[in-house]
Amino acid sequence: MKFYSLNNQNIKVSFKNAVIAGIAPDKGLYFPEHITPLSIDYFEQIEQLSDHEIAFQAIHQFVSEDIPDEALKQIIANTLDFDFPVVDIEENVGTLELFHGPTMAFKDVGARFMANCLGYFSQGEKQDVTVLVATSGDTGGAVANGFLGVDGVKVVILYPSGKVSEIQEKQLTTLGQNIEAMEVDGVFDDCQRMVKTAFLDTEITDHKKLTSANSINVARWLPQLFYFLFAYKQAKSKGKEIVFSVPSGNFGNICAGMVAQKLGMPVKHFVASTNVNDVVPKFMESGVYEPMPSVATISNAMDVGDPSNFVRIRHLYQDDMETLQKSLSSHSFTDENTKAIMKEVYSKTGYVMDPHGAVGYLGLKEYQKSNPNTFGIFLETAHPVKFLDVVEDTLEISPQIPPQIMKVMDKEKKSYKISSYDELKQFLLDD
Ligand SMILES: *Cc1c(COP(=O)(O)O)cnc(C)c1O
Repeated sequence: MKFYSLNNQNIKVSFKNAVIAGIAPDKGLYFPEHITPLSIDYFEQIEQLSDHEIAFQAIHQFVSEDIPDEALKQIIANTLDFDFPVVDIEENVGTLELFHGPTMAFKDVGARFMANCLGYFSQGEKQDVTVLVATSGDTGGAVANGFLGVDGVKVVILYPSGKVSEIQEKQLTTLGQNIEAMEVDGVFDDCQRMVKTAFLDTEITDHKKLTSANSINVARWLPQLFYFLFAYKQAKSKGKEIVFSVPSGNFGNICAGMVAQKLGMPVKHFVASTNVNDVVPKFMESGVYEPMPSVATISNAMDVGDPSNFVRIRHLYQDDMETLQKSLSSHSFTDENTKAIMKEVYSKTGYVMDPHGAVGYLGLKEYQKSNPNTFGIFLETAHPVKFLDVVEDTLEISPQIPPQIMKVMDKEKKSYKISSYDELKQFLLDD
């Protein structure tokens, strides 16, 4: 299977080259040339398949030219060693908990899958690959953890000093081995700018293989389709049409869900739920796509003013608004809406939602107002303790910190403090 650039379909590369490059030479996002539906049997008998078998069959067509079956099975086993339960919240509503991985954010699966693919591709290569990534919090921890100890791959993570939570900082700075944390005197946008500058700096790229690990990379984006299949397997017995509501920022996760639908998974509808960063909800109303500067909210992993993966969704529907609207709705919610629903659900059911999951719940309920006879699943993308301040203030409770988080809290922080691009450049050249 080849992947083409969304800017020019004549630019085609293998899965391997798409993973290593991240983005096409013309800056387009890579997209699979074909999406061939899986067999009807696969969906009819999905209950009898293990999660590893479900994942293997679903991703096989995209990667099989570059990764032999046995290696792919090992990559999947390394990636998926925790649970993805659908927990019933109330009648016709369940939540798919995606936070049982090592850093308790849903990005663990994409980060691990990509790390394992890059590790596989760099076997026998003389030159190491350096993954350079800027993080505002959650991505960095998942990437650091996913790439820890992978041979032939080094990871350099930039984060804004004093702007990430204590838990997030510990997850970035305590691992050691092939992971380096750069503590930038500045804000997230400064980190992002330094990373972009480095990618364009031939004095660096002539000497080093640099790649990025954000959700535009096909190896981070595509494996997210597993979640939807695991949820379908669990919810199928409800005997109702299924609706997914996905708390969305860069729209990689929901787009992967829509690929699962193209693979033949029966789904009635998708809801893209956002905070007040509402470029997509507005687009779905008006047909006009107007990026804007991002606004800070309590669901900060979704504070995105120009969602990078939305072009993939438009492409999946050949940019036809009418068919897209049949499959996708999008709704936006304020921080006040979000806190109010966190309280309401907690008092009615005892379930603690993190702010991102809460936005997903709100979007689902909006859709179910006019489609009550459906089974709705909203995705819980982070464990509530990852957004401890908001959860404690809103619900007036102190959730227990789970063991995988406790483990890093007593470890010693190690970071390089930098305040200019030149310091990053020197570090990369010396390394
Ligand atoms: C990254 C993230 C999201 C948004 O996912 P996208 O694929 O960018 O839409 C939602 N919730 C949490 C907790 C995240 O870390």
